[in-house]
Amino acid sequence: MTDTVAERESKQIQGRTGLWEIVIGLEVHAQVSSKSKLFSGAAVGFGAGPNEQVSLVDAAMPGMLPVLNRFCVEQAVRTGLGLKAQINRKSRFARKNYFYADLPQGYQISQFDEPIVGEGEVEVEREDGSFFTVRIERLHLEQDAGKLIHDLSPTESFVDLNRAGTALMEIVSRPDMRSAEEATAYVQKLRTILIYLGTCDGDMEKGNLRADVNVSVCRPGDYEKYRETGSFKHLGTRCEIKNVNSFRFMRAAVEYEARRQIEIIEDGGKVLQETRLFDPTKGETRSMRSKEEAHDYRYFPDPDLLPLVVEDAWIEEIKKSLPELPDDKRRRFMSQYGLSSYDANVLISEQARADFYEKAAVGRDAKLVANWTTNELLARLTKDGHDIEDSPVPPEHIAELVALIEDGTISSKIAKQVFDYVWAGEGSPKAVVEKHGLVQVTDTGAIEAAIDQIMAANPDKVEAVKDKPQALGWFVGQVMKATGGKANPAAVNDILKAKLGV
Ligand code: ADP
Ligand code: MG
Repeated sequence: MTDTVAERESKQIQGRTGLWEIVIGLEVHAQVSSKSKLFSGAAVGFGAGPNEQVSLVDAAMPGMLPVLNRFCVEQAVRTGLGLKAQINRKSRFARKNYFYADLPQGYQISQFDEPIVGEGEVEVEREDGSFFTVRIERLHLEQDAGKLIHDLSPTESFVDLNRAGTALMEIVSRPDMRSAEEATAYVQKLRTILIYLGTCDGDMEKGNLRADVNVSVCRPGDYEKYRETGSFKHLGTRCEIKNVNSFRFMRAAVEYEARRQIEIIEDGGKVLQETRLFDPTKGETRSMRSKEEAHDYRYFPDPDLLPLVVEDAWIEEIKKSLPELPDDKRRRFMSQYGLSSYDANVLISEQARADFYEKAAVGRDAKLVANWTTNELLARLTKDGHDIEDSPVPPEHIAELVALIEDGTISSKIAKQVFDYVWAGEGSPKAVVEKHGLVQVTDTGAIEAAIDQIMAANPDKVEAVKDKPQALGWFVGQVMKATGGKANPAAVNDILKAKLGV
């Protein structure tokens, strides 16, 4: 699915010599949620002391042999299924050879031409509510490297191998994103899917989800030619920005990099294919090394590991254990509860939110519950830095609040006050309404009395409203004030209209 003309034009960049478009493809590294490493029994976890989670395999002691962790494979298969991707019945591990001090083996065990997961796709929603599809090229399993520490001593560097051998899934997309916004929306969606699946915790601050961002620029029309023919010759030369681990940096890096490439080409130069780093303090990308090609790594099948074969029955079993995925949940929320795509999306973006909502919505006006959950509760939680899991207001209280609005006990305006009290821990909505005497006045006698008083005190306004019925609002306001906001607005309107003859 490619863009409409209007969508395309909104993303074009004006250069000195005409219009340009951005093309982005991402390689996302997601740390597999597992207790132990990909090829050893050493624990995986954050916060252990240096080199406390290192087995002899991870330290690459001579003669040590890797043993594949079945659970990590299961997680990769589960992720592949969640990305609607082809699961390859046979795949193979390969050695990617390079030297670096954080890699004691001298090679990374990865997958090369036979990855465990093949083509798939992710449906992504843009901010304006429209959708686009990102094609997934492959997902493969590989080991993470250790960590070098240079800032503990002026004369020495240290290595911490706790992370060495941890399982990563590298998820490679096709170059299907056309702006920084689309790239971040894709990673956000991918992150949501992984968290739903329970295959990666999505913690970007800890580096458990990070992306290599490939950016190129081309002239209008070229991308469509690439999509028609599949030939990369229609696209510009890409640069790869390594290890971007925040949405903000991703946006800044793409925008800076596109500008940089446009300037080079417009000055008559050529973009060099290279690996670059984003410097968040300067907001710039800078060259790290010229791009290595696959053959530089001398990939070859790892002789220590047999080809990996997964059986249909196992895949079926994993399929059966999948949770309802974000897209299905969004569609169900729209049909079952009559929610807009936007509201549904806000609610399904976290499993805990969706669960909270569904608990609160039982037997209630589902749209009203959605409004109270998204507009009031989520806004307040965000402001106070809470997750929905530790919300001071449980779903039962949102349900009770909405029930009080539905049966006319309180107006929506009073409901906001009630919510404030409930938030502050004063008890359930019912208890708060009783304690603070917030029951809505539906007693027409009391409303009539208030109206009579206001009319008597303001004869000029009573005259004026006859020619100008819009002035009714002023009276409504006065009645509300006189009744401490507790009058039933519908009743007030009806009685006012009758008495004023408008
Ligand atoms: P490598 O390992 O050499 O980086 P991969 O095949 O793993 O190669 O990843 C290449 C990534 O670059 C993919 O995400 C792909 O979509 C993206 N890509 C390829 N060509 C372009 C291009 N012209 N512009 C932007 N991204 C591109
Ligand atoms: Mg790569």
